Amino acid sequence: MKIFDQLESNVRSYCRLFPTVFKKAQGAFLEDQEGIKYIDFLSGVGTLNYGHNNPQLKQRLFDYLESDGIVHGLDLATVAKQEFLEAFEGIILKPRQLNYKVQFPGPTGTNAVEAALKLTRNITGRETVIAFSNGYHGVTLGSLATTANISQREAAGIATAGVTFIPYDGYLGSGIETTEYLEKVVSDPGSGVAVPAAVIVETIQGAGGVNVASFEWLRSLEKICRKYQIILIVDDIQVGCGRTGSFFSFEEIGISPDIVTISKSLSGFGLPFSLVLIKPELDQWKPGKHSGTFRGPNLAFVTAKAALEIYWQDDSLSASVKQKGKIMRLRLEQIAQNYWDSGFSVRGRGMIQGLDCKDGNLANRVIGTAFANGLIMETAGAQGQVIRCLPPLTISEEVLEQGLNLLENSVKQVMQEKASKKLVD
Ligand code: PLP
Repeated sequence: MKIFDQLESNVRSYCRLFPTVFKKAQGAFLEDQEGIKYIDFLSGVGTLNYGHNNPQLKQRLFDYLESDGIVHGLDLATVAKQEFLEAFEGIILKPRQLNYKVQFPGPTGTNAVEAALKLTRNITGRETVIAFSNGYHGVTLGSLATTANISQREAAGIATAGVTFIPYDGYLGSGIETTEYLEKVVSDPGSGVAVPAAVIVETIQGAGGVNVASFEWLRSLEKICRKYQIILIVDDIQVGCGRTGSFFSFEEIGISPDIVTISKSLSGFGLPFSLVLIKPELDQWKPGKHSGTFRGPNLAFVTAKAALEIYWQDDSLSASVKQKGKIMRLRLEQIAQNYWDSGFSVRGRGMIQGLDCKDGNLANRVIGTAFANGLIMETAGAQGQVIRCLPPLTISEEVLEQGLNLLENSVKQVMQEKASKKLVD
């Protein structure tokens, strides 16, 4: 690890959790330079929904490179972009009766969030947006302002402005409907909260601790947005692209976001690619008003189109996500039951499932033990108290079970160590 310690900035983080040098990856497996294999329940935090080095996507990429297809294209019209747009319209938007314009904002998720926020402020002339407790939307200044975690916001070094935080669903306990509070403050000129340009929400908060908003809560959020002419942004960057079973996480809920941000698994191959989907009447950008060098990720267009054609022309992937999601849920619930006296619980939808250990220190030890046992996972939540499982959607049931066994054994090991007071808490 010498060169990394010597040369790479202190800011690096994941490599501290998984201290080895990775060399290869295929499907649900990562392999380090010593030849040790790990099952991947992290999947680039939901970026590798179709697995590492998916062979079909890789072949399309080879063919495209072989043909000297455009690699960098600013926002020029290219054949790769044209074919991606046609596939996105034909396979995703039309069958769902969704009518969105597509903006290419720059390669990463936070680029999409920045563009979405900027657009809503431009349209409405209002300055503030509403975001939620435990929300995560990226770390560039505009997105960071909507990210709840205070220590992350402090890293900006200046006050992050223009955002009012409201409790997310369940934040104040199961009996308290936080959208009622939202409606009260936006409707009352004496509340101190201005009517915002937009509300930005995750249907399931990934980084915030796998907090699942109920369908009713999201529907009532949409109603409030309509009533007060507030633009509704759904940030589907982590739980879109099939993670919950449908392509967009909001499909089953029956809400119709005005703007959707999507990224992570969009390219299908781990290549940086993000989109802002905008209802046509809100596409009020003037040409060039939002720009950037890397807004034409042509290699990502090629693999994204291939992923749509291979996985989204029928509902077999959706069905298998629902099936494997149930397996994950059942196994995690069994683990939680074994430790009910420690207050363990399970949350999630589809193939994002979290085991809440109520204790960040403990969850962190489980992650470390799991890594030593050959499983890669991450924690989530303000205290890092939730073990978040994000296996590739294409993982076989057999490997999924192997990973869940490793998780179960790792929890057992840590709890036994804790019980025998080997751990200094
Ligand atoms: N929004 C959500 C919901 C995310 O989960 C993330 C990243 O984890 C982002 C935005 C930011 O994406 P990126 O890290 O690609 O900038």
